[in-house]
Amino acid sequence: MVRSVASVCCYCGTGCGVLVEAGGDRVLAVRGDPDHPSSRGALCSKGRALADTVRRDEARVLRAQWRPKRGRQLQPLQLPDALDMAADRLADTLARHGPDAIGFYLSGQLLTEDYAAFNKLARALVGTNHIDTNSRLCMSSAVTGYKQTLGADAPPACYEDLDLADTVLIAGSNMAYAHPVLFRRLEAARALRPEMKVVVVDPRRTDTAAMADLHLAIAPGTDVALFHAMLNVMVWDGLVDADYMERHTTGFAGLKARIHEFTPRAAQDVCGVPAQDIIQAARWFGQSRAALSLYTMGLNQSSSGTAKNAALIHLHLATGQIGRPGAGPFSLTGQPNAMGGREAGGMATLLPGHRDPSDPAHRAEVAALWGVDALPVEPGLPAVAMFDAVLEGRIKVLWIAATNPAQSMPDQARVRAALEKAEFVIVQEAFAGTETLAYADLVLPAATWPEKDGTVTNSERRISRVRAAVPPPGDALPDWRLACEVARRLAARVAPEKAALFSYVGESEIFAEHARMTAGRDLDYSALDYAVLEAMGPRQWPYRPNGDSVARLYADGRFATQDGRARFVDVPYVPVAEPVSAQYPLRLTTGRLRDHWHTMARTGLSLGLTRHVEEPWLSLNPSDMTRMGLASGTLARIRSRRGGVVLPVRDDASVRPGHAFLPMHWGGAFMAGQGVNALTNPVCDPQSHQPELKHAAVAVAAA
Ligand code: SF4
Repeated sequence: MVRSVASVCCYCGTGCGVLVEAGGDRVLAVRGDPDHPSSRGALCSKGRALADTVRRDEARVLRAQWRPKRGRQLQPLQLPDALDMAADRLADTLARHGPDAIGFYLSGQLLTEDYAAFNKLARALVGTNHIDTNSRLCMSSAVTGYKQTLGADAPPACYEDLDLADTVLIAGSNMAYAHPVLFRRLEAARALRPEMKVVVVDPRRTDTAAMADLHLAIAPGTDVALFHAMLNVMVWDGLVDADYMERHTTGFAGLKARIHEFTPRAAQDVCGVPAQDIIQAARWFGQSRAALSLYTMGLNQSSSGTAKNAALIHLHLATGQIGRPGAGPFSLTGQPNAMGGREAGGMATLLPGHRDPSDPAHRAEVAALWGVDALPVEPGLPAVAMFDAVLEGRIKVLWIAATNPAQSMPDQARVRAALEKAEFVIVQEAFAGTETLAYADLVLPAATWPEKDGTVTNSERRISRVRAAVPPPGDALPDWRLACEVARRLAARVAPEKAALFSYVGESEIFAEHARMTAGRDLDYSALDYAVLEAMGPRQWPYRPNGDSVARLYADGRFATQDGRARFVDVPYVPVAEPVSAQYPLRLTTGRLRDHWHTMARTGLSLGLTRHVEEPWLSLNPSDMTRMGLASGTLARIRSRRGGVVLPVRDDASVRPGHAFLPMHWGGAFMAGQGVNALTNPVCDPQSHQPELKHAAVAVAAA
């Protein structure tokens, strides 16, 4: 008999609803859920191909495995023995080196319940704040940008605003590829209202830029100069809302002198964008009835990511374009549950309920809610610093779940050296063949979509139920259950009184505990549980006990700061960390393709998706190809200060002269075991700790 199970697509932060049709342990088809309020039945090519990626064979990690000695093959292991082995190693490391010798590196693809279980294990049992995730590579600059200006990590807008905006500024986002269902929604709104203006800020002429009324082909990393110049024009033209600024913001006087330096002409010299285009973009934005900004990795994956986010949000605060239909700054979340992970506090710089681990009062609140005496005080290490600590021998045991850092972290050689240096690496993984499995001492078999239950939160703060449609294959278990099984065993060895902290009977109990921890916080959804989600469908936060969700934040002009006022921040323009030079003369940018996801662990299983683009290449402007004597399709060696790869090159007029573009997905056999991150720069934004994955200086020569 065929079952139809309502769930959510497991790729991007759009969070489209799906109906999974299953028979026995097989998924027969996946289609869009017309009742899901975020996507209304729409799916992109990746969502439509989900059924192709559900496997129960050798493409999956079906059993636990261990490596008796480095350099040897992994050997099969009974799951209970593997769980005991993990607990033994953690207990031994705790005894010999203390809690901060253990690190957890998780994923924005985990469900909120998985995050909550791991976070409790790390902080309440092991006693370390060294828990971070690949969301650090994704949205952490958006988090710090929101907190710095609006007072809370909360996207203020919702998807309906795409239908209602008059001017849309898309910055650092190829949403045609990365958030296709939202892009189609924007295209549909524009078809209905052709007067809508779309401005795209991107170094490349992407498919998103191609639909723009105005494409600002900005030099990488210069967004702050551009946004300051736009604000300067708005002030000069009298387009700012002085009354709104007076009543609801603070700090503009401190920023004013800074933006006066950025005349359109001065910004042209920095950004490479004609002054007239900067003026036009500012006027459309400032004169608009409703201006919406959509942004993602181009702003976030930067050594000045926080400043870029803040400078963009300034445009909204200066014009009062926030908290109204069709208006607001709106970060598009990269991963399916980076939002839920932040809510659960599963990051080094967060605690549950958007709390701060450096705040003693917040630590005390969480300790009380978890029923433990205290939480660790020592600051946790964010992703790049965590792998540095492994390399330096300070972190001895690393537990990696649902992510592939040997391929996805910047400066791949350094990360791989760290994994080799670690005393013990636990890899909790669903898909066989990821690059990180080669470094595992112990492999725990994880269930994945659509085999597990839980919740995710999408970009518009909407919490949806993820539902299992088929049982996990082999010995695979949901990530939260693996975390709790090890936690109970570890507690028995080091703190028997804490074993009960991990005795959840199911996902709903974890969610209920997590939701209670949001009470009184900006995101408060303490009145939400599985029964409400079952009865009412996906809900946005904050969620009121009377059943109301809040579609748009700050409609009353009151922000999440102590004085209720949003803040202008005097952010300087700082160039990219690695300038081009005679030795490395090209600016490399990286990005996503339409039909692949991250390191292709899942999308690589779909023949249809793989056929769209079968192999990687480096895109160069035709003038650079001619200058370098390279023909399209020939092999070239691409080098940065950190490493090199050999790839075919392709002439591509969408790439500016002096620039190069490389898709982020491939590694393994395509690049002699390397990937794009052999080249990328691990330097981080000092506030968000997000690395500058979007820019590196490189050299290209015929191979
Ligand atoms: Fe999945 Fe994102 Fe495509 Fe929606 S837009 S179907 S969430 S990949």
